[in-house]
Amino acid sequence: MKTQIKTASEIVAIRKSGQILAEILDILRVATVAGITTGEIDKLAEQELEKRGAKPAFKGYDGFPASICISINDEIVHGIPSGRIVKDGDLVGLDFGVLYDGMITDSAVTVPVGKISKDAEKLLEYTERALESGIAVLKDGVKVGDIGAAIENTLIKGGLKVIETLGGHGVGHKVHEEPYIANFGTAGTGETLRAGMTIALEPIASLGTHDADLADDDWTYVTRDHSLSAQFEHTLLITKDGSEILTKLR
Ligand code: MG
Ligand code: MG
Repeated sequence: MKTQIKTASEIVAIRKSGQILAEILDILRVATVAGITTGEIDKLAEQELEKRGAKPAFKGYDGFPASICISINDEIVHGIPSGRIVKDGDLVGLDFGVLYDGMITDSAVTVPVGKISKDAEKLLEYTERALESGIAVLKDGVKVGDIGAAIENTLIKGGLKVIETLGGHGVGHKVHEEPYIANFGTAGTGETLRAGMTIALEPIASLGTHDADLADDDWTYVTRDHSLSAQFEHTLLITKDGSEILTKLR
């Protein structure tokens, strides 16, 4: 594996990138209410990036046409902002990437709009908990399988299904760096991660299926059974004894 250990100056820059991301994602989360369109959320993201002298990391990535991915209900990830109106009861996934000072960070939340079902609440609670479980095992020497197992165990506890074809990854100079970090696995197996590496962990789960299908727009992944899906993501710096959450709002 190509080592992805960041230098001290890169870590200074990626911390700033992560804080900008955290600030903007919080603004977008609050703005995600019934009546707004996903295109308006994208526009707000653009404006907030510009204010901070930052760039959208996803725009143009493999040709993605917007600054943020917005995926609603059975849409899992990579939804394209449009004139679609957010409605009461929707689960709105906001997945956002920021480029600042040469460094990229990546973070996502799933926002409940108005009143949601008990099952939807469980989906959000355990997907977010799964992210915490993955973060809890991080430290110098952790293996990719340790992370996958921790995330998977929490999703299973919540009665959720892991979307098997999507997962976490190294991040920093590029949106996706090695290694790939599956949201399931066996503890003690896989590549070893070291202090100084920056990674994105992103549990992605659904209420009904492990399987994702690509929609007609060739971007959006949708649950095969159209059950609700959720994603939570942070960018993390691995340290000697643990990790630093770079995209947590300070
Ligand atoms: Mg992301
Ligand atoms: Mg990611």
